[in-house]
Amino acid sequence: MTQDCSLRFLFDDADIRGECVVLNDAFNEVTAAHCYSDSIKQLLGEFAAAAVLISNNLKYQGKIVLQARGSGPLELVMMECTSDLQIRGIARGNLKAEAAAPLALLVDGQLAITIEREGGQNYQGIVALESDTLAGALQNYFLQSEQLHTRFWLTAQQGRAAGMMLQQLPAQLQQEPAARQDQWDTACILAETVTPNELVELAPSVMLHRLFHEMPVRIFDPIKVVFGCSCSRERSLNALSLLPEAELVELLTEQGAITMHCDMCGNDYRFVQSDIPMLAENGRVH
Ligand SMILES: [Zn+2]
Repeated sequence: MTQDCSLRFLFDDADIRGECVVLNDAFNEVTAAHCYSDSIKQLLGEFAAAAVLISNNLKYQGKIVLQARGSGPLELVMMECTSDLQIRGIARGNLKAEAAAPLALLVDGQLAITIEREGGQNYQGIVALESDTLAGALQNYFLQSEQLHTRFWLTAQQGRAAGMMLQQLPAQLQQEPAARQDQWDTACILAETVTPNELVELAPSVMLHRLFHEMPVRIFDPIKVVFGCSCSRERSLNALSLLPEAELVELLTEQGAITMHCDMCGNDYRFVQSDIPMLAENGRVH
């Protein structure tokens, strides 16, 4: 069974590209940092699959950040995927909350999609979470912002997350508008027959051959997806140095050390006085 991978595919005779993703360990590491309800795990799984699918649009080093905010019970769902397919993410709010349609936990929600380019300009688009599903919200987003027909199928169950995306490409193989539309409609109708079980259980190549045997697809090699957190001792120290000196002194006096906790991976970074340059120099703590 293929696990934790993403793969792209292209239709031989139609201007349509696609992506598939299956996440197992990487998804479980995202959800392990907190005690999430099943509904929130499902939502995080859909966000994780979506972030990987969208990150395949990146044409340079950087990352995609999906960030949804709501007025409760969930306040935030955030998921990042880098151009080398490392994911991390988190949900904040009432982490015990359950809902039949998990996206409803983000009441009056808004989804921001940010493309962060390493050493370059960021781009951000925002869409209201008016759809019942994340897949529906993303489809609206792509239609509004990119003017591209894009469809998503996302699911998370049995400790796995999975997804598929189809996207229409500029006219090249088929120039005639009606025939182009017909090919797009046919591909979507065939893709629509996929069940959530098939998405998480089947190897992507098997699933794609089953779905699209009427429309031949070329499948590229799978690329590994891993859980990865960008936190570090150095970043934690930088964050600490933004606190007022008096506050640092107080914390060190009370506790002997300051521990910085990363919410996304659960790592702790512990600092004593001599680790903190501005305090080490003048020796203010006795
Ligand atoms: Zn971390």
